[in-house]
Parts: sequence; structure tokens; C-alpha cells
Amino acid sequence: MESFEYNAHASRVIFGVGTLSRLPDEVARVGGARPLLLTTPGRPGVAGVEARFDGVAMHTPVEVTERALEVVREQKADCLVALGGGSSTGLGKALVARTGLPLIAVPTTYAGSEMTPVLGETEGGVKTTRRDPALVPKAVIYDVELTRTLPAGLSVTSGLNAMAHAVEALYSPQANPAIDSFALDAIGRLARALPRIAEDSDDLDARTDALVGAWLAGICLGTVTMGPHHKLCHVLGGSYGMPHSETHTVLLPHVMAYMAPSAPAAMRRVAAALGVPDAPTGVFDLAVRLGAPTSLAGLGLTETALEPVAASVKDAEGIRPFLDEAWHGSRPA
Ligand code: NAD
Repeated sequence: MESFEYNAHASRVIFGVGTLSRLPDEVARVGGARPLLLTTPGRPGVAGVEARFDGVAMHTPVEVTERALEVVREQKADCLVALGGGSSTGLGKALVARTGLPLIAVPTTYAGSEMTPVLGETEGGVKTTRRDPALVPKAVIYDVELTRTLPAGLSVTSGLNAMAHAVEALYSPQANPAIDSFALDAIGRLARALPRIAEDSDDLDARTDALVGAWLAGICLGTVTMGPHHKLCHVLGGSYGMPHSETHTVLLPHVMAYMAPSAPAAMRRVAAALGVPDAPTGVFDLAVRLGAPTSLAGLGLTETALEPVAASVKDAEGIRPFLDEAWHGSRPA
């Protein structure tokens, strides 16, 4: 007999091509008159949003948040608009935590942070997380048009980052039929879309499929507890400064190989969604075919880091051989 609890987060989503034009209405809807745009340097501005902070950095360093907080005060901002990837959304959430201002997220990667109540921040090389439903953006505007400029390489790793949320949702202790169906749909869409994006990063149909997949995978991430893959990536990002989506891409097939004996049903469902006989090697082969990075060594991690990284999960001894394989970049057995 199936039994589960399901707690969904209230979220408002506007999805389509050209939906950024809806931003002024959404700002008004949250009662804003002086929005502040949070983005990375060099990103184009947004019509109707005068004030801007473009010092966003990966892994939400608290020093950056403090600088942004000064701009919030100087500009007397009454609403935050985070435009960009998970790093922009992260800064938005960090400012929500400190000011209580409403946040509108305009995601331009497939990271999925906009669908979660989680904020990860780094200070002095340590990444801490907090979870609070108040951090969920008041509205999320997915504009497929904005993802067209995401370079093919980053699109692939970001898409595989999204796939990791969906995969770990399927073997989560909180798995439930609603999340399972989101996860499987996300995996299928991403697996179909990424090869097309790698070939033509301007393919609007493939971009649409990938962004829908990222949204669904983001719901998985925000709704059920993730497993060892996310824990390891969290430590690699927060303590070793490893790049987020690339680290997810390299590690995913190896953690799946580690999980396969204890989660055979989840692996069969992932394999079916991917259209391959075996899930871990299927994900590895997809990454290779799309030209994504395959080794932690290649991403700059020193071999001596593997032991402390392994120690961050419950079964350090069990995970270690799989981390070694990820470091070398060998195909999972
Ligand atoms: P990112 O936001 O750092 O973006 C990577 C780079 O891509 C940046 O230079 C950015 O300017 C550029 N970029 C983004 N969108 C673009 C576009 N459409 N066109 C051209 N360039 C574009 O990377 P990310 O992988 O999206 O996010 C990673 C961060 O998000 C990490 O800090 C991670 O911890 C966090 N994250 C948090 C959660 C959560 O739930 N709290 C979930 C996922 C990710």
C-alpha cells in the first residue's frame, strides 16, 4: 500500500516566449514601485527597472549580499527582480531573508532555485543552507527567449544539473506519485532537448522543452529531500569552490551507480525515461556525447580532497570508490 505526505509550495509561474514583457504587471501585483534588478555583470537591463545591482557571484557569498543590501537601501527598493541563473536567484533569496521584500525570479538557466525555499550562502569557505517558505519567489517568469543566449556547454551542464534533481527525487524517502511524474517528465524532456540544444543553441522548441523540464525538476528539488549526490555537490561547491552545474554533471552518473543496488526501481524508471538499458551509464554516455566535462580532476579538484568530501556523507567508505571514478572520469561499471 502506498502512503505519503505531500507539501507543495505556493508558486506563481508565467511561462512562454517573450514573457519578460509581463514583468511590470508582476511588479505592480506584489505592490512594488521601485524594483531593483539583481544580475551578473554584462547582462542586458530590463525595460522599466531603473535600479540595478550586477555584482552577483556564484554560491551567494555574504560579502556580496552585504554590498547589495546597501544598494537596496540607497535605492529605497520595494521589490527585487533576480534575473539570471541560480546565483542571481540566490542573491534574491539572501536579500529576502534580510529585508522581507517580495522577490520576482526570472531564471535564465536550468538550475531550479526559483522553485525552492532553500538558500545556500558561503562565508569563509563554508556553505550553510537555510530553508524557509518565505524565501520562495512571489512570481517566476520563465521566458524561453532569455535562455537562447545560454552557451551550449553551459546549457548541457545546467540541464544535467536539473536532471540530478529529478533523479534524486525518485529515490527520496519523501517520493510520491505527483513528484515522480514531474521527475520522469523532466528527465525525458531534458534528455530529448539537450542534444538538440548542443547542436543548435537557438532551437526554440528544444529550449522550451528544456525550460519546462527545468521547472518540473525545480519543483522536485524544492519539494522532497535530495540524496547523497546533492550533499556531495554542496560540499564540493561550498568548500572547494567547484563550479556548480559542471560538478553536478560529472558526479551524477557515479552517485547513481552507487545508489543503483538500493534504488533499483528508481533506476529502471530513469532508464526508461532516457530510453536506455541502464540509467547510470546512460547518463554518463549522454554527457560524453554532448561534450560535457566527465572528471573532477578535469574541473581542477585535487585528489587529496576526495577523502574529506566522502566524509560528508553517511556512508563515506561506500561512496569513496565512486568518487575515485568521478575524479578519474571513468565510465561507471
Ligand atoms: P549561475 O547563475 O552562476 O550562472 C552561470 C553563468 O551563466 C553566469 O556567468 C551567468 O551570468 C551566465 N548566464 C546565466 N544565464 C545566462 C543566459 N541565459 N545567457 C548567457 N549567460 C547566462 O549558474 P547556475 O548553475 O544557474 O546557478 C548556480 C548557483 O545556484 C550555485 O550557487 C548553486 O548553489 C545555486 N543553486 C541553488 C539552488 C537552491 O535551491 N537554493 C538550486 C540550484 C542552484
